[in-house]
Amino acid sequence: MPLKFDLLVVGGGSGGLAAAQRAADYGASVAVFEPKPLGGTCVNAGCVPKKVMWSTAALAHGLADASGYGFDLESWRHDWGAIKTRRDAYVARLNSIYAKNIKAKGVTHITENGSFTGPRAITAGGKTYQGKHVVIATGGYPDRPEIPGAEHGITSDGFFELDERPERVAVVGAGYVAVELAGMFNALGSEVSIFVRYDGVLRNFDDMIRQELGDALAKDGITVVTEAIPAKAGIEPGGLFLETSDGRAFNDFDCLLWAVGRKPNTRHLALDKAGVDVDDGGFVLVDDFQNTGAERIYAIGDVTGRVSLTPVAIAAGRRLADRLFDNQHDRHLDYSNIATVVFSHPPIGTVGLTEAEARAEYGDIVQVYHSAFVPMYYAVLQSKGRAAMKLITAGEHEKVVGVHVIGDGADEMMQGFSVAIGMGATKEDFDNTVAIHPTSAEELVTMR
Ligand code: NDP
Repeated sequence: MPLKFDLLVVGGGSGGLAAAQRAADYGASVAVFEPKPLGGTCVNAGCVPKKVMWSTAALAHGLADASGYGFDLESWRHDWGAIKTRRDAYVARLNSIYAKNIKAKGVTHITENGSFTGPRAITAGGKTYQGKHVVIATGGYPDRPEIPGAEHGITSDGFFELDERPERVAVVGAGYVAVELAGMFNALGSEVSIFVRYDGVLRNFDDMIRQELGDALAKDGITVVTEAIPAKAGIEPGGLFLETSDGRAFNDFDCLLWAVGRKPNTRHLALDKAGVDVDDGGFVLVDDFQNTGAERIYAIGDVTGRVSLTPVAIAAGRRLADRLFDNQHDRHLDYSNIATVVFSHPPIGTVGLTEAEARAEYGDIVQVYHSAFVPMYYAVLQSKGRAAMKLITAGEHEKVVGVHVIGDGADEMMQGFSVAIGMGATKEDFDNTVAIHPTSAEELVTMR
């Protein structure tokens, strides 16, 4: 006889746990299948340990600036192993907090991989489970290019396993992970090159952000190698090497890191047995309500390939549970205007449309306001950092449709602005807001 639950959740990451706990709050019986420590990519090999490393790198930048503020710091040395130990301990603490939390809510944790044997029927560890509803929330894993020698490189997962800082690092990729990890290595003393296939990093971001980040990377001594399509990697006596498709060879790296995107974790699910369809990249196809094509089977988070961000998975999971177990029939996530931060140095915060997207959508009724400046923090320093901001409006009433910021503090700035954009704020609303002085953020309400 199968074990019966109101909800089976395959995957114990941010999205899966959010759906499970919200459903349990409504009195549903819930089981979560997760063989690894709870928390998924975000907690174990993503946002959480990344933010610890970003803060470490931010401190290194602060130390570099300290003498300008009158501190007498002859030199500093960083112990990568020490922060790794503390970081791992913090992650382990979070894993056990998650386990405690779901237990307190009465959610059953099955520490096995689950795979479908039929519609809403799942097998795990030799037992069969039947759910009234099933949520697929298995997330993804970092990809590697399909080239000879790719196994010599690590991915972001391997980054979090490093016990010491490599001296010479090649990062291949142009997205979030590439610029974030490159910046951390660089700040802590590594010599870093980023290899990108086109003309720069973060191709989907606003041109102003791309330009400013490119300048900041160069100023920090990070080399961006453009038009570099990886063709071969390997190891030789001097270290790791990378060859590009146009015949260029780059040698003597201590670490080669692939940051070329992520793939969905669906291999062990036997989705065909449940009639769940995937797209060409293997991501589970869902509609606006997270429904797959199979009855009462849903998918949320990175496995759907739709805005792969932790809070998005959480929001989608909670809304789904509200709909299924609290009769909130129309409850679903609106995927527009989701703010995002890239933890580069300096960080980037953005919400809404890029200028190119706004012009494509609204044409001539788009207005753009722009400001670039040296934040006051650098006034007494020789080495000047920069901040740049862009407001994009559309229509007669100048509704703000995009906000883009790069500069110190951008990471903490964007959340509040995303509330305003979500509420339909206009340029006039921004203009009518009294500035907070002296901050960088005040530029956003004083643009002309
Ligand atoms: P991304 O999709 O952001 O970037 C990967 C990039 O690598 C691609 O856009 C592509 O850029 C380039 N690329 C792809 N294939 C190859 C290849 N074969 N050779 C060389 N370059 C290649 O993936 P990430 O792994 O960086 O991050 C995955 C997702 O996780 C992000 O999109 C984001 O949603 C999330 N994330 C969020 C973070 C945050 O919130 N701060 C931090 C980290 C990840 P191009 O086409 O220009 O070559």
